[in-house]
Amino acid sequence: MIIHQNYSLKKLNTFGIDVRASFYVRIDSIADLQKALEKDWELPLMILGGGSNMLLTHNLERVVLHICIKGIEQLKLAEDKVQLRVAAGENWHELVLYCLEKGYGGLENLSLIPGNVGTAPIQNIGAYGVELRDVFLGCQVVSIKEGSSEYMDKAACQFGYRDSVFKRELKGKVIITSIDIELTTRDHFIKTTYGDIASRLKEAGIEKPSISDVSEAVIAIRQAKLPDPAQIGNSGSFFKNPELPRDQFDRLQQRFPDIPHYPAPSGRIKVPAGWLIDQCGLKGFRRGDAGVHQKQALVLVNYGEANGKEILNLAKHVQEEVMIRFGIQLTPEVNIL
Ligand SMILES: Cc1cc2nc3c(=O)[nH]c(=O)nc-3n(C[C@H](O)[C@H](O)[C@H](O)COP(=O)(O)OP(=O)(O)OC[C@H]3O[C@@H](n4cnc5c(N)ncnc54)[C@H](O)[C@@H]3O)c2cc1C
Repeated sequence: MIIHQNYSLKKLNTFGIDVRASFYVRIDSIADLQKALEKDWELPLMILGGGSNMLLTHNLERVVLHICIKGIEQLKLAEDKVQLRVAAGENWHELVLYCLEKGYGGLENLSLIPGNVGTAPIQNIGAYGVELRDVFLGCQVVSIKEGSSEYMDKAACQFGYRDSVFKRELKGKVIITSIDIELTTRDHFIKTTYGDIASRLKEAGIEKPSISDVSEAVIAIRQAKLPDPAQIGNSGSFFKNPELPRDQFDRLQQRFPDIPHYPAPSGRIKVPAGWLIDQCGLKGFRRGDAGVHQKQALVLVNYGEANGKEILNLAKHVQEEVMIRFGIQLTPEVNIL
């Protein structure tokens, strides 16, 4: 267990916000975690993974536990399926690459999502028509208060669109230490209908794509569309795509006949938040070093020296403009601290 006092988190969050934590504790094993939880810090704890889904708006008078536990274990190998247990501190995209190398299918559409494996269940990460819940079996969690360990199956996690029980009832109460997933070893379910995957593959002359082909297409699309946090600070999509009741959507469609939309599993109608922001003329909008990305209006960026409060004020401005024009309340996808 490595401990630092008054520690800068600038390099540990993808917005690149320079705030300090009273204590930073690097957790490399379950034993480290137990020790850290037993200690009387006299300050609240905060859990940190890859720092790619948080906006830090002030110095944290907290003990930041950075979950860096590594390991991939094969639990079961049947004829056409494999079950893996993956430790929370593994990098998500490296897991995807590991699975592709082994010929395991199921994660290819989730290529290049930043962050760690242990955080993936929290917002049920998703992209290009696939969500974590499609391959998820369960996860091991440790209670922050009691230090006890428990296995939670998929039903207990209550997954929804960018949502789970970890964002609600269990928020701040448990630490996910590993996840179990089930992948295919053959007869993979290739999903190319979402976004530009099919057209990318067609351009490349690929008729029967492999899981690696799908992953490469997803990576190319993401690299073309989304700013790389290593170049420009950001946290991906800042807001969730709103899901509207049918009658509200119908009224909106009368005013804006071109409004893009698609059905949500909830029976509601999902509208791209990026389109709403773009329609407000905010794409490329900038206040100091805080800005709305020039190519992707859903992404707020730090051009260099913006602080967390400046990014938060920009987010509020975007919410107000969308509310005035469309009567829709945008909800942040990013965790604001
Ligand atoms: C460029 C970019 C693109 C992105 N694209 C997508 C996308 O396509 N789809 C998508 O779903 N997301 C996307 N995201 C968001 C982000 O990648 C995911 O939310 C990811 O799961 C965050 O992981 P993290 O480890 O970085 O989380 P962190 O930012 O470290 O933590 C997020 C929250 O989880 C808590 N937490 C962290 N680890 C644990 C743990 N082990 N146990 C309990 N709580 C924990 C933290 O306290 C915090 O509240 C994108 C982000 C960026 C920067």
